[in-house]
Amino acid sequence: MSDNTVLDQRSESLLDEGDHERFAHYVNKTDMTRSAVTGTPVRALCGKKWVPTRNPESFPVCPDCKKIYETLKAAGR
Ligand SMILES: [Zn+2]
Repeated sequence: MSDNTVLDQRSESLLDEGDHERFAHYVNKTDMTRSAVTGTPVRALCGKKWVPTRNPESFPVCPDCKKIYETLKAAGR
């Protein structure tokens, strides 16, 4: 284990709601920004693709996304 592990900001993700499942997925921030501009679908860490919409409801975090996100974080990527 190295003490010099640095989190890569490119892997920074945020949560957004998938419309077709009652889960909040982790999505790459760059993808989210692009989607907001172009309306193209985003792809979550778990592989789910959808066009994000604003939704005031909060959903539980997608277990697949959470698992992958934790793995990436642990790997320092
Ligand atoms: Zn997911």
